Amino acid sequence: MTNFTDFLQSALKESFFNFTLYMVFGIAVFWLVWKGLKNVWRWRRIQPKSEQRKHFFSHDILYSFGSILLAGFLTGLITLLDQLGYMKLYWDINAYGTTWGILQLFFLLFFYDAYFYWSHRFMHHPKIYRWVHKTHHKSTDPSPLTIFAFHPLENLIEFLPFLVLPMIIPIFWPMLFLWQTLDLFNNLFAHMGYEIYPKNWVRLPFLNYKTASTHHNLHHEKFNGNYGLYFTFWDKWMKTEFKEYSERFDEKYLPDLIKTKR
Ligand SMILES: [Zn+2]
Ligand SMILES: [Zn+2]
Repeated sequence: MTNFTDFLQSALKESFFNFTLYMVFGIAVFWLVWKGLKNVWRWRRIQPKSEQRKHFFSHDILYSFGSILLAGFLTGLITLLDQLGYMKLYWDINAYGTTWGILQLFFLLFFYDAYFYWSHRFMHHPKIYRWVHKTHHKSTDPSPLTIFAFHPLENLIEFLPFLVLPMIIPIFWPMLFLWQTLDLFNNLFAHMGYEIYPKNWVRLPFLNYKTASTHHNLHHEKFNGNYGLYFTFWDKWMKTEFKEYSERFDEKYLPDLIKTKR
């Protein structure tokens, strides 16, 4: 009973936390960037022609609230499983060696990037797409309101590694939080609707393997490519990167465009 009460408390706390994140990074950033900076940042807009088209803001908000509750309960489940001794989550950085304590962040990022790429491609399978992933693709011109707009089944698929990995390998709690924080910012930049990465990003050595905002935005616009999350490796290896990716990125930084649109 105590465990169940703890689970419920943790689930509600996490749901409230996710709700706060959405109010700040979803709704407040949407108002700041899409309304407040609309004219100043016009030159950064990735799909300027889509402005006249219909947007699905209330759809995105509605599904985001569903995701907030579901993610809250799934995080509550992690706490419960941890209390019951099923999780290898730890607080002492030296418990499994300092090297693993620190380097696991890279493992988590690269592992999840691969998991996301393949689960994402799976959800684009013609027989599955309309039942699960279509919800997230309703916005072909995504905005910060889209960051949590997923079908419940997609939430389950994307949350699975957070639940299963700590059962198999020892994870240092602060690294799990850091991974989730980086994931949140990556998610926000991917759905910003505005290119926020600096000029020449797609050509900078090493850094060009990090996806710019245009990368995922193109995925929403054109569907059948740019499936990657944090990095561009998988799309390059599997030849699923849109050919116009760097061109579309570069056009934001054409001097005349910056001058006239600003
Ligand atoms: Zn997709
Ligand atoms: Zn998206």
